[in-house]
Amino acid sequence: MFPFELQVVSIPLKNNFRGVSFREIALFEGPFGWSEFSPFIEYDINESSVWLKASLEAATKPAPKSLREMISINATLPNVKLSKVGEILEKFTGCTTIKIKINDFNNDKSLLMESLKHIPNAKFRLDVNGGWSLNQAITNLNNYEAEFGGLIDYVEQPCLDIADLKSLRNESNIKIAVDESIRKYLRNDLTKLKDVADIAVIKWAPSGGTYAALDLAEKISLPVVISSSLDSSIGISHGLALAGAIPNLYGACGLGTVALLDGDVTSDSLLVSGGVIKNRKVVPDRINEFKAESERQKWWQDRVNQIYERGQF
Ligand SMILES: [Mg+2]
Repeated sequence: MFPFELQVVSIPLKNNFRGVSFREIALFEGPFGWSEFSPFIEYDINESSVWLKASLEAATKPAPKSLREMISINATLPNVKLSKVGEILEKFTGCTTIKIKINDFNNDKSLLMESLKHIPNAKFRLDVNGGWSLNQAITNLNNYEAEFGGLIDYVEQPCLDIADLKSLRNESNIKIAVDESIRKYLRNDLTKLKDVADIAVIKWAPSGGTYAALDLAEKISLPVVISSSLDSSIGISHGLALAGAIPNLYGACGLGTVALLDGDVTSDSLLVSGGVIKNRKVVPDRINEFKAESERQKWWQDRVNQIYERGQF
């Protein structure tokens, strides 16, 4: 049996993101504070067990030594209608780097143009989640470069295939960040990622926790951006602790996403102000407001027990 009492919340999202309209999150408190376990519902046991490792570590081990107190943050813009862009960007006060989930150039260049109306000095990170073939990547990136030039900070995971990323590097001047590749490549030689990318996007939970993420960053030895997965402020606090401890941080981190939730587990949310969030812990004093129904509570309890009983923690 999982040794901590779970509290499951269901928090609505302001806009559909990753095809979901609410976020279910299990919280628990250990000797070193509150932790969050929130793999997406469709994730299988293997993938979720990595997240549980992170969750348990955060509740039972001290955070690593912090190198910086303030973490600079990027705005995160889901692929929304143009009429929604202003109100979303408004929540990311002081942010000048905008990460956008994009599909292609023709449909999504207008999201960049609209963003520039609200943040005229914006730089963009285009997240493709591995959605392009090599040819699509070359065409789209050359179009983005022709239209937006130096305003593109980098493209995140344009293709999934490592060989395609390597070829793309010869065909485009835009810097490449790897995200999904890191997890796909975990059992291989991570130092090879340096040959195909300029930046590593690393996340607290999918890496298996702060210490595993620090180890990953060291092995990959690329500049790092810490990102998150639609976490509550509890998960974000662990992402901030990780960002605070990364020696080679590239720039703004994707840890401002509590702004995309329509509610939070704490009245002291980790939201961006002046383009930064302070690395600190929070207490979840609003769990009751977002408590999930008892059948969902049971579903998460079963899920966590099933994963925990397989061991390896
Ligand atoms: Mg990504």
